[in-house]
Amino acid sequence: MAVEPLSNELHLELVESCRGPVYPCDNNSFRDYATIFNGNVQTKAKAVVCPLDAQDVSNLTRIVMFCAKHNLSPSVKAGGYGTAGWAIGGDIIVDLSKIIEVDIEPPLPDGSYTSLHDVASANSKGKTAVDLSRASTGKRRREEDANLRRYDQASQAVASLLSGPTLAELERTDSSSSDGPPPANRRKLDIDSSATTNSMDVTIDSSIALASRTISSESEQSQSSENSENTSRSRSNVSESSTIATTPSPVPFPNVRLPPNVPGPAKSRPSPLSSETPFGFLDNPTNFTPPPPPSVVQAAYNPHAMMHSWGSGSATIFGAHGASNAQTDGPSQAEAIYPHAYVTFGAGMRQKEIDTFTAKHKLEARYITGQGDGIPYHVPFAAHPVGSSIMLLGGFGFLSRLHGLSIDNLVEVEVVLADGRIVIVNENEHPDLWWALRGAGTTFGIATRYKAKAFPVPVVFAGNLIYRFNKATAPSLIKHFRDCVKGAPRELYANVLLTAGPQGKDSLVVVQMCYVGPREKGQEYLSAISSWTGERCLMNEVDEKSFLHQQDSVAQVLRGKAGRQWFIRSALISSLPDDIVNDTVLQFADTPVGCTWLFELAGGAVADYTDTCLPKSQREAAFTIAALHQWEMDIDDDRCVDSAEEWIAGTLKPVHVGGPYPSFLGRHEPPERVQASFGSNWDRLAEIKQMYDPKNLLKNTFWPLNSEGEKVDPRSHEPPTPEFIGEKFHDRPDKFLDED
Ligand SMILES: Cc1cc2nc3c(=O)[nH]c(=O)nc-3n(C[C@H](O)[C@H](O)[C@H](O)COP(=O)(O)OP(=O)(O)OC[C@H]3O[C@@H](n4cnc5c(N)ncnc54)[C@H](O)[C@@H]3O)c2cc1C
Repeated sequence: MAVEPLSNELHLELVESCRGPVYPCDNNSFRDYATIFNGNVQTKAKAVVCPLDAQDVSNLTRIVMFCAKHNLSPSVKAGGYGTAGWAIGGDIIVDLSKIIEVDIEPPLPDGSYTSLHDVASANSKGKTAVDLSRASTGKRRREEDANLRRYDQASQAVASLLSGPTLAELERTDSSSSDGPPPANRRKLDIDSSATTNSMDVTIDSSIALASRTISSESEQSQSSENSENTSRSRSNVSESSTIATTPSPVPFPNVRLPPNVPGPAKSRPSPLSSETPFGFLDNPTNFTPPPPPSVVQAAYNPHAMMHSWGSGSATIFGAHGASNAQTDGPSQAEAIYPHAYVTFGAGMRQKEIDTFTAKHKLEARYITGQGDGIPYHVPFAAHPVGSSIMLLGGFGFLSRLHGLSIDNLVEVEVVLADGRIVIVNENEHPDLWWALRGAGTTFGIATRYKAKAFPVPVVFAGNLIYRFNKATAPSLIKHFRDCVKGAPRELYANVLLTAGPQGKDSLVVVQMCYVGPREKGQEYLSAISSWTGERCLMNEVDEKSFLHQQDSVAQVLRGKAGRQWFIRSALISSLPDDIVNDTVLQFADTPVGCTWLFELAGGAVADYTDTCLPKSQREAAFTIAALHQWEMDIDDDRCVDSAEEWIAGTLKPVHVGGPYPSFLGRHEPPERVQASFGSNWDRLAEIKQMYDPKNLLKNTFWPLNSEGEKVDPRSHEPPTPEFIGEKFHDRPDKFLDED
C-alpha cells in the first residue's frame, strides 16, 4: 500500500512543532514506532512524532494544531496493545514512548497528593531529566518491548509445562513429519526462588501432548468435517453434573518434586499411576489439604473479619512468611502505614514498568514482629500487562474486585485537548471531562501524565490449576469454578480459561486465582476450587508469591506473541447458566489453534463507583469474558474471527449486560456494541464529545460517530488489514456489523 509522505514543507513544519524526533514514513526508524502488538493492521501514517515530555506542553499543542490546520488526523500510541489498531490509524502517529517519568509518594498528612500542577515533568526546565537514552531509539524501544513480553518469571513450573515449539516451528515440523511422535525430552529446571515462597524442583515431560490440534490452514476440510462430527457426537456427552470421574489419560505427566514443607506425594494416597510416573500423585487433584465442599467455604467466610485484617481497612497487616518481597530472616508481621499511595507516571510508561518501579520503591511499614524493608504498593492495572491507556478505558485486573478498575483509581490526569488547550482534570477541575475521561478518555484528548492510587500488596496467594481440555468434562469444571467463586470476597481474583493448542499439544483448561493476601486466607478458596475430581490436575502451582510475578501469569498462559494476527472480542455478562457453559465448551472444541476463551469473575469494588461514564449496569456484571484469538500472519482462516463472533454475539447474547469494558473494544466493532458499553450514559457522553471535540479530530479511537453524530463503518476509523492477508478476511466482518 503506497502512502504519500508529507511534503518537505509540511515535514519541516512538523519538525519545528516538536522537540522530539519526527520520522517520516520512508525513514528506517518509522516502522519501529508504527508497529503494534497486532500484526493484522497496517498503518497508513505519513509520519511518527515522539514528543519528549508533557510539561513542555506547547509541544503537543503544536502537533495537535498542525494536524487540525492541515486536515491531517492524529492517532495516539502508548503501549500499542489495542488490537483495533487505532493507535497507528492516523496520518500522524503521536508516539508517547518518551514520556517515561514515574514516581511514588505516600499521601500528604491530610490524605491528599501533590497535584500535577505542582510537579514539573521530567525533561522540562526545573526538573532533572530522566535518562532519555532508555528510549532514545526505535531499536531500543523494540528491545524493551521484547523484554517486557517475557512472562516466564510468573512461574517456571508453568513455563515448563507449556513449553514447546512455537506455532511457526510447529508448522515447519508438521510439514516435514506430520505423523511423528510427540516430543519426549525431559528438562530439569531450577525454579526461580524469587517467584514463589516454596521453590519447586520440577522435571517436565513435554510429551504431555495428547489430542493434538492442527494449524487451521492445514487439512482444513477434513478437520471441519471431523469437528462437526465430534460436535454432534459430543452433544450427548456433555455432563450436567459438577464432578465426573473420567478415564485416566494414557499419557505420561510432568514430574514435580515438591519441597519438604509442602504437603505432597509422600503424604498423598498412592494413585494407580504413581508406580508408572513420579507425577502420579497429581492424580489426586489437589496437592494440598483435603478440601471442604464449596458451600462450607462460602459459609465460613466472614467478610467483616477480612476487612480488618487484610486489604480493605485503613491499615494492612501481613505476615511476611518468607515471601520474596520481604526480608526473610524469620517470619515478620507488618502493618501498612498508608492505606494507599499515589503514583505519577508519564503516558509512555507501560504497566509492567510501573509495577516494577513500585515493587522496587517500597513504602515504609510498621513492623509488629521481625523486620523488613517496607511494603510494595501497586496501581490496579489490567490482568495482562498492557500500556497506559487502560487508565482511560477501564483496566480490569487482579486488584479490581478489591479496589476498582484502573479508571476508578485515577485521581488526576494531564490532557491536551483537541483545541490545543492543556488541562489538568480531577474531581474538582473540569468535572464533565473528569466523568467522561474515565472510560472514554481516548476520544477526548491526549493524556500525557497520570496520577493514580496504588495499594499495599505485600504478597498474594496465587497461581494456576491446569487440566487437559476434555469436551466431556470441561463443562463440569467450569460450573464447579462458577459455584466456588460465587459470593467470594473481594480479595479473590479468579478466572477459568480454555486455550487451544498449540499444535501437537493438548488444549487446556486453566483456573487462575489470585488471592490478595497470604496463604492462610486464600487456602480455603484453593481447596474449594481444587476439589473438582473430573480430570486429573496436571499442575497446581498456587502459592504465595510477589504481586510483580503474578502480573505475568495471565500473559504466560495466554502465550500471546506480538506480530501475529490478533482478534479480541469481549462482553460483560450477568450470569453463567449451565446451557451456556455446555454450548461454550462444544463451540470451543471447534476453534483453531491459538484461541483462548476466558471467564473472569467481575463485580466487587468495580460496582462501587458511580461517577464515571461507565454505567452501573456494566459495573454490576458477574463475569467479564473474552475471546483472545491469535494466529500466524500467513494463515487465512475465517474461523479465527468467526468463532469469536459467534460465541460472543450468539451464544452469550442472552446474558449480555451491554458491551464490554471499553478497554476490550476491538477491531471492526459494530457501533451499537460500542454504545452499549456506555449504556444509559451514552447520550451525555456524546454531548461532552460535541463540546470538546466537535470536529472529531480524535477519530482514531473507538468513537463510532462522525462529526455530524452519524454512525460510521468501524473500518473508516481503523487502519486496514495488510493486503497480503487475503480478500476473504477483509470482507468477513461485514457479516456481523448489523447483528448486535
Ligand atoms: C493480549 C491482551 C490482553 C489484554 N488483557 C486485558 C486485561 O486483562 N484487562 C483489561 O482491562 N484490558 C486488557 N486488554 C485490553 C487493553 O487493556 C487495551 O487494549 C488497552 O487500551 C491497551 O493499552 P495500550 O496503551 O497498550 O494501547 P494503545 O494501542 O497504545 O492505545 C489504545 C487506544 O488508546 C489510545 N491512547 C493511547 N494512549 C493514549 C493517551 N495517552 N491519550 C489518549 N489516547 C490514548 C490510542 O489512540 C488507542 O485508541 C488486553 C489486550 C490484549 C491485546
